[in-house]
Amino acid sequence: MNDSDSTPVRSTGPRQVRPRTEGWTQKQDADGKPLLQFAAPKRAMPPVHLADLTPEQRVAKVKDLGMPGFRAGQLEKHYFEHYTSDPAHMTDLPASGREALAADMLPHLLTEVRRLETDRGDTIKFLWKLHDGALVESVLMRYTGRITLCVSSQAGCGMNCPFCATGQAGLTRNMSAAEIVEQVVRANRLIADGGLGDPRRVGHEEERVTNIVFMGMGEPLANYNRVVQAVRTMVDKRHGLGMSARGITVSTVGLVPAINKLAAEGIPVTFALSLHAPDDHLRDEMIPINSRWKVDEALDAARDYFEKTGRRVSIEYALIKDMNDHAWRADLLAEKLNARGRGWVHVNPIPLNPTPGSVWTASEVPVQNEFVRRLNEAGIPTTLRDTRGKEIDGACGQLVASEEDQAVAAGVPAD
Ligand code: SAH
Repeated sequence: MNDSDSTPVRSTGPRQVRPRTEGWTQKQDADGKPLLQFAAPKRAMPPVHLADLTPEQRVAKVKDLGMPGFRAGQLEKHYFEHYTSDPAHMTDLPASGREALAADMLPHLLTEVRRLETDRGDTIKFLWKLHDGALVESVLMRYTGRITLCVSSQAGCGMNCPFCATGQAGLTRNMSAAEIVEQVVRANRLIADGGLGDPRRVGHEEERVTNIVFMGMGEPLANYNRVVQAVRTMVDKRHGLGMSARGITVSTVGLVPAINKLAAEGIPVTFALSLHAPDDHLRDEMIPINSRWKVDEALDAARDYFEKTGRRVSIEYALIKDMNDHAWRADLLAEKLNARGRGWVHVNPIPLNPTPGSVWTASEVPVQNEFVRRLNEAGIPTTLRDTRGKEIDGACGQLVASEEDQAVAAGVPAD
């Protein structure tokens, strides 16, 4: 161990690695503050799709196209129940005008560029090309009794977290609500076609995605309105996918005003806060948004989310060797959570996944176990997250379009 490049917390304290001591330089804005991109660079958004609209707006648009309003309901059925946008399958629509109606209401949004599967075939990573050539990924995972899709909400990300591959690549643009929903519809189509093994029947229903995590590319709360429209469409039983809100997890670095807004939406989605450090000293460097909203403010907002929705919230904590995995930090985290009451939160530590060029590594197993043990002992339910998809670079923090992805994508027309 070479101590010359590390900053001990106290002179006698444990080794303390910090992003900057490992040679990471935080990008800064003109005022010298950590660079955060809230506004996406101006780029053309995709054509408006049925899933971008409220049910009323869909009816109005169909009428504008010279069709009776009930055609909107037929299109919803094709799209949300049969996972198709292909007019050839829509034999209940009049043959004349079917093509045009589908093209206007269900425009093509995602072109599949690449699909990577794990050996066991229970995890699939999709690389999608958007209409303007931007690349995003989603990851589909089969577990016992549930199927989870990790979706992207932005092409790239403006939050600049040093240990996350997406964050290091910067923000390309926000995704539309329909581009978010389409990831689910396409995954459902694949499941129905047997792409995730033989589709099993659940009661009378065909198997499909049951859980969504907004843990793909992007900061969902920085694309607030479109993410909320996508969630509304996912949970809408009559005009959408009819999923359970509890099965949907929105994860954020901690945009406090947006957390408060989400708590007031009246959609009881599961909320996850990517905390990663209980002290501002370290979190200021690890999570640049901490320059705006501090640890205590983010935790207060998380606690308030629980108050308003009754949903237990989740704290994410990537365990990075000698950076944030010290026993005293587990104790401090437990103290801060317990100070806000009991039974409102659980902690989900996740050993750091490697990212290209990153100098940091996951904590050692005994250190991980000790971190978990201390939290549990303090009364905070804590479970180490099982990571999936590492071998296909599909795990948390690994989603970024590689040079190889870009080369493959260059040969695929956007539609
Ligand atoms: N922007 C959102 C959602 C995307 S990331 C957020 O930050 O919450 C989903 C989770 O993966 C977050 O908790 C994020 O901090 C974590 N993560 C990022 N990079 C990681 C890495 N290299 N290893 C493990 N987890 C990582």
